[in-house]
Amino acid sequence: MRLQLYNSLNRRKEEFIPIHQGQVGLYTCGPTVYNFAHLGNLRTYIFEDILKRVLLYNGYRVQHVMNITDVGHLTGDRDMGEDKMEKGAQREGRSAWEIAEFYTRAFKDDIARLNILAPDIWVKATDTIDDQIALIRTLEEKGYTYQTRDGIYFDTSKFADYTKLSHQDIESLQEGARVEKNPEKRNATDFALWKFSPGDVRRQMEWESPWGIGFPGWHIECSVMSMKFLGDQLDIHCGGTDHIDVHHTNEIAQSEAATGKKFFNFWMHGAFLIIAGGKKMAKSEDNFLTLENAFLKQNLNPLVYRFAAFQTHYRKPMEYSEESLQAARNGLQHLQNQVRQVTQNSAGQEGTINEALKNKFLEAINDDLNMPRAMAVVQEMLKSSIRDADKHAMIMNFDRVLGLGLDQVDKPQELPAEVQKLVEERAAARAGKDWSASDRLRDKIQELGYLVQDTKEGMKVIKK
Ligand SMILES: [Zn+2]
Repeated sequence: MRLQLYNSLNRRKEEFIPIHQGQVGLYTCGPTVYNFAHLGNLRTYIFEDILKRVLLYNGYRVQHVMNITDVGHLTGDRDMGEDKMEKGAQREGRSAWEIAEFYTRAFKDDIARLNILAPDIWVKATDTIDDQIALIRTLEEKGYTYQTRDGIYFDTSKFADYTKLSHQDIESLQEGARVEKNPEKRNATDFALWKFSPGDVRRQMEWESPWGIGFPGWHIECSVMSMKFLGDQLDIHCGGTDHIDVHHTNEIAQSEAATGKKFFNFWMHGAFLIIAGGKKMAKSEDNFLTLENAFLKQNLNPLVYRFAAFQTHYRKPMEYSEESLQAARNGLQHLQNQVRQVTQNSAGQEGTINEALKNKFLEAINDDLNMPRAMAVVQEMLKSSIRDADKHAMIMNFDRVLGLGLDQVDKPQELPAEVQKLVEERAAARAGKDWSASDRLRDKIQELGYLVQDTKEGMKVIKK
């Protein structure tokens, strides 16, 4: 079965056909590094990882770009409010640059813990300021921009079909956008390409530009980075559903206005995470759960969260509760036990792939990444009457998509001697309740590229 993906642009499932045969350009909007990613954000990255793994499983070469937003993302989506980075810096008494570095590292640790494949290219917004200025100049030359007292704006009325992704009625969109008032904007949906630094405050992050000292708007970076690194192979662009109305809509407007070409063929969006009680998880809400506080500090394997995410289709809101977490924990443990069993029963034997079962799995994942169905096929396969050696071969094959590290289930990890020594010292420190030594040794181990998790079964050390 050929790969079908739901395209937000046309609001239907479509057969995925890449622009260049055999290869896919994938762009996923990355984190704004002013705080930890919360579990709702991470759900989106898990969905994108499944997409990437499914593309690879289908035999495509994938070129994946992810941005790091380290400037320009304001607290209000429509260019009002404070810069999230500068606000984070104030909150923590550190510079915006330090905040960016700290939370970028935290984000990379988080996705490694969730077995999310790292992008081929990471790009920081602050590393592409010249390219962003160049794109704004192009838009200016083509007559799409105007200047106000606080910045250079994109005139959305000059771009036909501004709502082709959001499918909103332009009138109601204008109304909705009017909540944040800026009287100098010609249309409520117009957005900033470049914002001037305020005259009375010196920002930590600001640059010279043809229009004056300031910083880029949030949307321009994603247009620049996708086109800079993927060229004209603009296949799939992903993000959370909350990106549709403003961020992705504006990306399309400014990119297509600049190039005169269709920007991306496929737009895919992951739904929210809902905390029991019905609220969407957001950084601005109190229900702010991170991998650190909800998993690591509770001695829970972060892959339980990855497993939990497979229980709900990515376009449906996912409920997060004690019960769903417990169910995922049991489910993952059960799967690991099954894998351990077939591994032991078939030691030394070569397995073969059962094509009928493999096709069933492929049909599920190729039907718009239907992971709940794929997980049912996994169980069907493990409970079938095929040989254990074949089950072993197949679960390892499926794990290329699942990414649950099932090949590690039965293998104690071989650590380099240097790391092993620190692990033993840390175990001794913990036995002696010397927590500061334990923390110091953990940091040392992590500096050597290993993650330390304290679980009920003891300390686990895995390669980052
Ligand atoms: Zn983006």
